[in-house]
Amino acid sequence: MSFKINMLKGISSNFRGEINDETMIEAVFIDSRNKVQNGLFIPIIGERFDGHDFLFGAIESGAVATLWNESKPLPEGLEAEFPVIYVKDTLLALQNLSKNYLQKVSPKVIGVTGSNGKTTVKDLLEAVLCTTYRTHKTQGNFNNHIGLPLTILAMPNDCEVAILEMGMNHFGEISLLSNIAQPDIVIITNIGESHIEQLGSRDGIAQAKFEIIHGLKENGVLIYDGDEPLLNSHHVDLNKIECGYNDTNDYIITNLEQTANGSKFSLNNKYDFVLPLLGKHNVKNSTYSIAVGKYLGLSEHTIQLGLNNCILTSMRMEKKQGINGSIIINDAYNSSPTSMKAAIETVKDLGDFDQRILVLGDMYELGIDERNLHRSVCESITSPITHLFTVGEKGNWISEALLERNTDNIVIRSFESKEEVLENLKNIVNDSSIVLIKASRGMKLETIATSLYM
Ligand code: ATP
Ligand code: MG
Repeated sequence: MSFKINMLKGISSNFRGEINDETMIEAVFIDSRNKVQNGLFIPIIGERFDGHDFLFGAIESGAVATLWNESKPLPEGLEAEFPVIYVKDTLLALQNLSKNYLQKVSPKVIGVTGSNGKTTVKDLLEAVLCTTYRTHKTQGNFNNHIGLPLTILAMPNDCEVAILEMGMNHFGEISLLSNIAQPDIVIITNIGESHIEQLGSRDGIAQAKFEIIHGLKENGVLIYDGDEPLLNSHHVDLNKIECGYNDTNDYIITNLEQTANGSKFSLNNKYDFVLPLLGKHNVKNSTYSIAVGKYLGLSEHTIQLGLNNCILTSMRMEKKQGINGSIIINDAYNSSPTSMKAAIETVKDLGDFDQRILVLGDMYELGIDERNLHRSVCESITSPITHLFTVGEKGNWISEALLERNTDNIVIRSFESKEEVLENLKNIVNDSSIVLIKASRGMKLETIATSLYM
């Protein structure tokens, strides 16, 4: 990215130091430890730290100018000519600056929200769209009120399509992000249970996700999970494209076949696609990227070439060769009841295995109903699943519920520690085993997965 420093006049008229209008800013950063060239430092006041205390570090890292909260004194010893741009609120200034920069570069903007699958859809969109356009996407999980503006400000000047992930914990957050990004296309991947604690109910979650239309450009389009009744019941007067398995959708997934290498399916019984990813939910995620591809004028052939190249961020249904010839599915990045059930359904659909082993752990932030939400996962744990290993206090609620209704003779074991799970797994996996590993991020179950890799 780059812009002339005088673009900052759009967010403030209160400058100090020597400002040469031609000076180019080539990076915007908030962490003084990041090394940059010709950077603009934006000190953010956080819960534990105040970025204003780190200006000298930022200058050492490459800052050539800084924004500054006008109520704070500058640090002693700062050179008189160092450019300082005073603002009332540095966070708001970061957001406004990103909005101005986005308008200047003016790519097509795609906003992605939903309870699960945002990062996956973002990665799929990039795989499809980079066949034809210069794309820029959210890195990692930079999807909140700070991450999204930073993502925008890292966008190259010649970007044609910006793919922005929008995450949230509370009402109002997606609205803010959508108003910054002013998308041309918005996607709601699904409605799950994440953050139900803050949002009250699944309907509350759906309402919060719908905030993504607040900044949608006129004539923009909303693409969403048409299988979700909570989304279907929102009657908004917009261009809409519904995707999913139900035959009322605009893009209907049919003829789905799961293979050990991925999925094969048709859309509207007309177009055939191959996806190098596992899971019914990922097939649906890919239809959002296909819908966007077609909306932006790509042929089915080009879209397929893009899908062939998609590489997902790690720990999302990541398939690896494990010890003793086993197959390990590392889905330990995160979990909600919905995504856990989706992953279990995938393991049930896959190839020929004598042992289908689930290793499941705690899921967080589920509110007062957390016990029942854990127990509800059992609905999916039926034959051909052969083993259920759970770990953690909450994870073990899943075992508890299955024990009460174990009609399929599944081997059920609950463990206190990950080490115990690992020892037991090592003793039983063989070349006819597939092992799914999944829990909330805080459980870090990937340590079990990687210890089983070949
Ligand atoms: P976060 O809120 O942590 O950023 P995210 O929305 O970006 O999550 P991903 O990282 O893409 O989601 O996927 C998280 C988990 O959700 C994965 O384990 C994946 O298996 C599952 N998942 C992905 N897409 C769906 C979907 N459409 N429906 C249900 N589960 C899904
Ligand atoms: Mg994400």
